[in-house]
Amino acid sequence: MTEQANPDGPLPERIARAITLAGPIPLSQYMGAANTHYYATRDPLGTRGDFTTAPEISQMFGELVGLALADLWDRADRPDCHYVELGPGRGTLAADALRAMRSAGLTPPVHFVENSPALRAEQAKAVPDAEWSLDLVGIPDDKPLLVVANEFFDALPIRQLVKTQQGWRERLVACQDTLFIPVIGNTIFDPIIPPQFRDAEDGSILETSPPSVAILRALAARLLQQGGAAIVIDYGYAGPAIGDTLQAVRGHAYVNPFEDPGEADLTAHVDFGTLIEAARVEGLEAYGPVPQGAWLRDLGIEPRADALTRSSPDRAADIAAARDRLTGDDAMGELFKVVALTAPGWPIPAGFGE
Ligand code: SAH
Repeated sequence: MTEQANPDGPLPERIARAITLAGPIPLSQYMGAANTHYYATRDPLGTRGDFTTAPEISQMFGELVGLALADLWDRADRPDCHYVELGPGRGTLAADALRAMRSAGLTPPVHFVENSPALRAEQAKAVPDAEWSLDLVGIPDDKPLLVVANEFFDALPIRQLVKTQQGWRERLVACQDTLFIPVIGNTIFDPIIPPQFRDAEDGSILETSPPSVAILRALAARLLQQGGAAIVIDYGYAGPAIGDTLQAVRGHAYVNPFEDPGEADLTAHVDFGTLIEAARVEGLEAYGPVPQGAWLRDLGIEPRADALTRSSPDRAADIAAARDRLTGDDAMGELFKVVALTAPGWPIPAGFGE
């Protein structure tokens, strides 16, 4: 779907009209509208796109995810399973993971949760026999699930609450012509603020992501009912915590999130503390967050890089650079974190110690 094909006009005009008619909108509504349009209309990944994810850096990433899942499945006595991926991008992670799983004797049917038509088309090239759903409701309910979500939760909408002299109030988005500006709403949220943040200094921001919690709870319900496990990888923190993490990325650079909605990737850091709490309340076991670098080393990225280098010596420098980018403390190794969730009775996934 192109901008011109939309009879209601370009996205900024549509958001501006909604604000003019009904007043400033919550940040979550702005972020949701912007990202739905953004992902629906392009493949944003890779050097010629807006950002590069771990599976696009090296095949080692998806292979190690696949081997971790195959190991877990093996220790769970090899039940029939489905592979499920949330927001699979170009399908690269899935293709690499499925190849590695196949070498370990695991060949599950593949189900992608994806709402972007543009990315579904890319995914179909990488994994032709996949099936697609818009949400977890469409995923089969008959067998255990092996679920992967890499850089999925960061793209889901957040709300921001701001501490003011009058108390905690919500950050909203207003507009002047088609210029969007963050403003502060009047409603006071103090009663729902966790006690440790009540006295935070003025200007402090507390983020929540209602859609992330809703999806996590739906996933938990399925894992409880069917068995299985989920591996969630993203940049984030063990929150809740004070901090403004909203960012917009376009052409591999940070841009203003309130300019050109729908033309940049809007994300926020993932509050793993809250996701883990939600999983445990539902009855799942939760492990992590562990830093991505330590996790990949535990899963064997060093020997995998060595083996790749032996079979393609001319690519030695590229392979070493990719390994360092995925694991280095100053690259993705510390900022990105991994959480595993399992149904009760399932083994502890590799990479989470014992
Ligand atoms: N996991 C991939 C892509 C990350 S980009 C990788 O690591 O390369 C985020 C992905 O989530 C995209 O595929 C995007 O279309 C999808 N996505 C974002 N919001 C979504 C939503 N609300 N429902 C389903 N998919 C969504």
